[in-house]
Amino acid sequence: MKLNVNSIDRFIKELPVDKDLDNSRRQVEEACFSYVTPKVPRDPSLIHVSTEMLENLGLKEEDGQRSEFLDIVSGKEVLPDTKPYAMCYGGHQFGNWAGQLGDGRAINLTEVLHDNKIWALQLKGAGETPYSRTADGLAVLRSSIREYLCSEAMYYLGVPTTRALSIVLSGSKVLRDVMYNGNPAYEKGAIVSRVAPSFLRFGNYEIFASRGDKVTLKTLVDYTINNHFSYLGKPSKKAYIDFFKEVTTKSMEMVIHWQRVGFVHGVMNTDNMSILGLTIDYGPYGWLEGYDHDWTPNTTDSRQKRYRYGTQYQVVLWNLLQLARALLTLIEDAAPLEAILDGYHKEVKVAQLDMMRSKLGLDGKADNDDKLVEELEKALQLTETDMTIFFRNLADLKKEQSVDWFTVIEAAFYKPEEVLNKVKESWTNWFIDYGKRLSIEVSTDEERKSAMNKVNPKYVLRNYMAQLAIDAADEGDYKVLDELFVLLKNPYDEQPDALKWFAKRPEWARHKVGCSMLSCSS
Ligand code: AMP
Ligand code: MG
Repeated sequence: MKLNVNSIDRFIKELPVDKDLDNSRRQVEEACFSYVTPKVPRDPSLIHVSTEMLENLGLKEEDGQRSEFLDIVSGKEVLPDTKPYAMCYGGHQFGNWAGQLGDGRAINLTEVLHDNKIWALQLKGAGETPYSRTADGLAVLRSSIREYLCSEAMYYLGVPTTRALSIVLSGSKVLRDVMYNGNPAYEKGAIVSRVAPSFLRFGNYEIFASRGDKVTLKTLVDYTINNHFSYLGKPSKKAYIDFFKEVTTKSMEMVIHWQRVGFVHGVMNTDNMSILGLTIDYGPYGWLEGYDHDWTPNTTDSRQKRYRYGTQYQVVLWNLLQLARALLTLIEDAAPLEAILDGYHKEVKVAQLDMMRSKLGLDGKADNDDKLVEELEKALQLTETDMTIFFRNLADLKKEQSVDWFTVIEAAFYKPEEVLNKVKESWTNWFIDYGKRLSIEVSTDEERKSAMNKVNPKYVLRNYMAQLAIDAADEGDYKVLDELFVLLKNPYDEQPDALKWFAKRPEWARHKVGCSMLSCSS
């Protein structure tokens, strides 16, 4: 029996296709995608499947265990009446225009209509495409586990994101030089099937603008509005402006969520910016352990730190500027685009402050809240202080108790004695201010705690946790992977049996590859 999904294919029906059917690496012009069939894997095996995503696609839990399912999500077979394809896009990488990039190892299988929702289903690591450039079209187990676990963890944290359906081993080995330091080694190959309403990126639009191909750009923008922003009305210059405003708002919401949970994307190139404001392309991302505005997990970016935690929302603005440049080709008037970008600049500060207020359990607004937040951010960086534990435990503080702050948040300090010896006064001062601020709040301690615990997660995918799942999986043991998958479905719940994951990063993980150091190698 074949796997039964309700395939509809808007993207390939409505957009121009690459006429060349040859799967060879090349520049693809005046086309949004190329047909390409996934590589048949040598000996595929299922590692994990998400029941929830199966159901979202109209499949049953049992379907996930069928060989027909493995055939599809490993690329061995193609769904009936579908034609897989890779998308053409470009991008600004680390501030420079990189030309054509495209789905170099992602292959879209189809779009599925279920429950009035349309989901694009895509395999990552399923072989070469015309966009593979100098690479092999494959993905390794470690990066696939990181994408699989993190995209679902982000979803349950309430962060807009692409989703993951399954992870499989391909049965082949893939050669990678993890730290780009001349030590290539073979690793297990894997394929993640991921799901999103669309995988369109800023770079999909930029590529046509960069080539002066206004016709294809217009076709793609009209398609995007009709299918993903239809509430903006029929495509027109006004709708294009409104579209840009919507993308701006969604991107801002996304990055504010990142800041809230301490997520650092690591490679915010414009080809990694979803047009729907979803977190996309989980590469060398990381989670703040010690709160540090300058931290980036990506060692490839360790000198410049372009994509560090504290500047993510500025980078979003820079990326939006690149998208605006592309859309200017159609809008032909920079003023409304500039106004939107100016608006972002102002609104993001307000949104950031509101988000921090929510983390502090402040319901109302007071004049000096920005100062209170600023002072807190300074204090958090005086000595290494665990972001997740700090905010979670802060909810236990009683209004009258601010003098006793140390016992409440002690667990967040990596070196508590250093706090007492060196920076106690700064913290005491901050807590005096916070205590005063809390005294004018109407909510009770209990109400505040409950509100704070809805925005300050107890469990996040700490960098070392993903690495533990990877190390075990590499030995064929998927228990940690499953444990984390289940744990992170309820990141705001107490989960008393899982307290070992509510802990500071262990010392062994401080300088370990995969835990604190990641590269783009995947
Ligand atoms: P990323 O840094 O993962 O966002 O990738 C940037 C570009 O490189 C995209 O066009 C990817 O499809 C492509 N790419 C990354 N890894 C590979 C690979 N192993 N094989 C082919 N293309 C790749
Ligand atoms: Mg990418």
